[in-house]
This record gives sequence, C-alpha cells and structure tokens, in this order.
Amino acid sequence: MLKPTRLLLLGAPGSGKGTISRKLLKRFPQLHSISSGDVLRSHISRGTKIGREAETLIKAGSLVPDSTMIGLIAEQLKELGGLNGEASWLLDGFPRTLSQAQGLTEILDASGADLNMVVELDVDQEIILQRIDARWVHLPSGRIYSLDYNPPKVPFTDDVTGEKLVKRDDDNPETFSKRLLVYNEEVGPLREYYETLGTWHRVSGDSSDIIYPKVERLLLRD
Ligand code: AMP
Repeated sequence: MLKPTRLLLLGAPGSGKGTISRKLLKRFPQLHSISSGDVLRSHISRGTKIGREAETLIKAGSLVPDSTMIGLIAEQLKELGGLNGEASWLLDGFPRTLSQAQGLTEILDASGADLNMVVELDVDQEIILQRIDARWVHLPSGRIYSLDYNPPKVPFTDDVTGEKLVKRDDDNPETFSKRLLVYNEEVGPLREYYETLGTWHRVSGDSSDIIYPKVERLLLRD
C-alpha cells in the first residue's frame, strides 16, 4: 500500500466488518478507522442528544437519519485530519444508503481526499444468522469476539482490559433479522453508485479468516 488509501468496508451486519477493520489497522498502521456503529454507541454511552435519539432506532434495527450520520462522519473525518489528499482511512458501516454515499462524495469532493476503494464483504446470510448468537463485544473499544471462532482468553472477558464482555442490545434474533432486511434493501443502490464510479469490489467467503487475505491483496495491488 504505497499511495494514500481511503477505503469503505460494506457488508451485512455480522459479516465481519469490525474484525476485518482491526486486522487491516494492525497490518497498515498508517490507516485510521471510523466505525459509524462505534461512533453511535459512544454517543449512547455518553448520553448525548444524538445518542438518545439513536438508541431507540438502533434497538429497533432501524437506521439513524442520513443527515445525522453525514454530520457525524464529517466531524470524525475532520477530527482525524482525514480531509486532505495525503490521509489514509477506512470507513466501517458508513455510508449505508445512497443519500449518505452522495453526502460523503460532496464532503470529499470539497477536500481533495477522494475515496479510492469500496469493498463489499459477501458472506452467506444463513451463516451470519447461525453465528450471531456466539458474538460478544467489549463495548468501550468495539472489540468483537466469537465464542466459536475467536473466543476471549478468559470466558466473557476482554483480552486487553479484563472488563466484562456483553451482548449488543441489537444482536437479538428479531432485531438482527430486521437489520439484515434493511441492509438488503439499501445495498443495491449503493452498489450501483460505486460501480458507476469504478471503485466497487466484492470479496466473498464464510469467515474473516478467508476474507481478510483477499482484502489485504486488494489493498496491496492498488
Ligand atoms: P453497526 O455496528 O455498524 O452494525 O451499527 C449498529 C446500528 O447503528 C445499525 O443497525 C444502525 O441502527 C446504526 N447505524 C450505524 N451506521 C449507520 C449508518 N451509516 N446509517 C444509519 N444508521 C447507522
């Protein structure tokens, strides 16, 4: 990865965006990541106005309004110095709708930091549904564990801080199915948008261990 990389990771809930992001950050320390879900969960835990509004929507498996999301991500990009042609970053979970993608293009067009790659993580949704029961998280850091594939060293405990792991409120079967449905509705127009811009890639596999090396190869090739 020689030139600045500005990457979007797209994928259904539970497709491993968070896990792939973490691996990429380790491999390419010049990358910074912004996870829209983590940004929202941080607002919820701080009890901000945005957090209070987002909490109900997230619990219902619905999307937070586009204008809120575009504002939040623009702010995060600015904070990490991401709006210049030399910056390298990855976005995880944003944009999720066509209107968010158009909003992001406007922000980036005004800055010279164009997006150079969009990667869709393509995982069989039957497999995602089977796996979600085993997902536990450390909310303050966003670290994700699977009791099956990537268990913590001490059961239900974060490896780094020793704090307790929790189930996300929106990882219960009903909310999760709704989130999958919403994703499937929104992803078509997004895919078309980025295909037209020539930045779309799809990487398929049933686990992050299979998907990660393919994503890494894409970044090294570019
Ligand atoms: P995630 O951690 O990416 O699965 O996001 C958790 C929840 O946060 C989603 O189910 C949505 O309710 C909300 N959310 C995250 N990112 C976005 C986004 N780009 N647009 C709208 N809602 C979002």
